[in-house]
Amino acid sequence: MVSGSVDANQPLIALRGIRKHYGDPASGQPLVTVLHGIDLDIYAGEFVAVVGSSGSGKSTLMNILGCLDRPSDGSYHFQGQDVAQFDSDALAWLRREAFGFVFQGYHLIASESASENVEMPAIYSGLPKGERVQRAQALLQRLGLGERLGNRPNQLSGGQQQRVSIARALMNGGHIILADEPTGALDSHSGAEVMALLRELAAAGHTIILITHDRDVAAQAQRVIEISDGRIVGDSASQPATAATTATTAEGDGTRMQLAPVPQGGSASATPLVAELLEAARSAWRGMRLNRVRTSLTLLGIVIGVVSVIVMLAIGEGARRKVVEQMGTMGTAILYMGSKPPATGGPAGQITEEDLDALRELPEIRRVMPVIGDPVTVRYGNADKQVYVFAASEEMPLVHHWKPRLGRYYTDTEDRDLAPLVVLGHKAHKHFFPDTPNPLGRQLIIGTSAFEVIGVMSERGADSGAQDYDDMVFIPYQSGRARVYQAQTQPDYVVVEAMSSEVVNEAEAALHRVLLARHGGREDFGIGNAAARIQAEAATRQSMAVMLGLIAAVSLVVGGIGVMNVMLMTVRERTREIGIRMAVGARQSDILRQFLTEASLVTLSGGTVGLVLGALVGAVLVLAGVPVVFSIRAMAGAFACAVVTGLVFGYMPAKTAARLDPVRALAGE
Ligand code: ADP
Ligand code: MG
Repeated sequence: MVSGSVDANQPLIALRGIRKHYGDPASGQPLVTVLHGIDLDIYAGEFVAVVGSSGSGKSTLMNILGCLDRPSDGSYHFQGQDVAQFDSDALAWLRREAFGFVFQGYHLIASESASENVEMPAIYSGLPKGERVQRAQALLQRLGLGERLGNRPNQLSGGQQQRVSIARALMNGGHIILADEPTGALDSHSGAEVMALLRELAAAGHTIILITHDRDVAAQAQRVIEISDGRIVGDSASQPATAATTATTAEGDGTRMQLAPVPQGGSASATPLVAELLEAARSAWRGMRLNRVRTSLTLLGIVIGVVSVIVMLAIGEGARRKVVEQMGTMGTAILYMGSKPPATGGPAGQITEEDLDALRELPEIRRVMPVIGDPVTVRYGNADKQVYVFAASEEMPLVHHWKPRLGRYYTDTEDRDLAPLVVLGHKAHKHFFPDTPNPLGRQLIIGTSAFEVIGVMSERGADSGAQDYDDMVFIPYQSGRARVYQAQTQPDYVVVEAMSSEVVNEAEAALHRVLLARHGGREDFGIGNAAARIQAEAATRQSMAVMLGLIAAVSLVVGGIGVMNVMLMTVRERTREIGIRMAVGARQSDILRQFLTEASLVTLSGGTVGLVLGALVGAVLVLAGVPVVFSIRAMAGAFACAVVTGLVFGYMPAKTAARLDPVRALAGE
């Protein structure tokens, strides 16, 4: 796995014929060559200054030396190993363990404290938290920032920020310090301090590569390399310091100047997972708190989406259930029929038993139930009342999807035997027997005849659309005709149940056809289609539920777009942060894990708040009497949608940025 040996006399860094072009003629941008074949050997322990005027290619060279960028051409050997062969994890290892960067613009992470910025390289090298904090604080103390550990970069002066970034460069040892115009943004006093620090580090055995346009600054190095228009035009090195003179030097803080070979193959020294997840969650939480506006906008988008889906679907489902309930009690296959005078004049028709038998033969029709019903005086003891007395066959409970709560309903045989039996509606029971929970066996006087109570129906209730049935009493058809309705020659109306709700209209047509034929072509009867009315209402409610669902989906999408927008707005800022993290040695997997944790934290908390708020709104609606039915599936679906949207748009930009060369990420491209 390890190739190349660590030989004290081989150069630490060997560049041969390094070129760098920018632009791409294929896409219309002119090709600019910035480095024209650089040959350079740097030995361990050297203090090298690269000096040249602005635009001469110094930064470009440094970025290539530090593996933040790749050369277009030429070879780069690090300790004898060809850098072009390294995979991204090996390059990350180099940036983490071998190099320490000091930039003109400091490149500190704005949301982290001085101490946390310094700790960062050690997080990626897997140093336990305790040691990490201790070492970061010791370094900052040594650089005179012992009082500023908790300050964020914007609470520090330029010179202090630069010292923080030097401490960060030293965190993992800082064997090779790459400093690009470290004094460029500083006043002369702070600049002198930084230079003194670099000289001290050079004396302690660190390899220092200093880039500057200032010859006075460069003169403080052992070796000065002059660069002009991308070519080396001067090199003071006649007697390069060999590693032998410096490699054994060790510092009090344990810096090892002898660098191990670069591990390759990706398996080496992965950051402990739990520690890093905790670290990512902590830093995510920090970022969310510091960017309150951004976080709350993202959360708002998620919350609105989730709440509206939950509430709208609950209202829609509530409305739909109500209809289903009504259809269950009223039946969706019921037709009503009665005699009436024809429109052309003349008497109303007579609906005979033979007519009904003929209808029973029709294949579209399941049941035919003649009904006689009128208000009749009903008496029990001293209480009497006008009650609607409903006389029909034993099929009534089947036709109306209704069951007795107490006792039983009468049978077909009892009906034919003219048995004097009565079943009470829920309210009729309350009226006649307020103190008798079980009135079975009592005698009720209906008209002039006594009927025995054998059952009490269950309550229809207000939602069924048939609550007045609760006021009635029910007696067999034949004994009703014989004992109560002696004057009646035909049913008041006939309830016809179609085979199914799908064939209601066919049943109506057949009914019409047969009766018309039997009545000699006179339309002396009328048919009412209750089923069609209920079905129409069900369809209306169904489409309302669909519309509410659509509105909910739209608000989920709008919420999602809001999330995307906020995320995309911050990509540039985050890209720079990713660049910094990669420069201090984060692997691609570290970056992705961090951003995934962050996106999960935001979306999961947004989704949870949405669920809770949705349930609260639902509770308020329930209190206000709106029928709502919460669906676990809708809740889970909304939650999942929100989380997925947030993850995709939080994660994708990070994935793109993590694939960039660190220089480009640092530029925030
Ligand atoms: P120095 O650090 O010596 O001032 P740089 O290495 O930053 O110079 O840049 C050298 C030249 O390369 C400059 O002319 C600059 O315009 C050009 N250059 C640098 N980066 C890019 C880039 N990403 N695309 C195109 N040209 C670039
Ligand atoms: Mg530069």
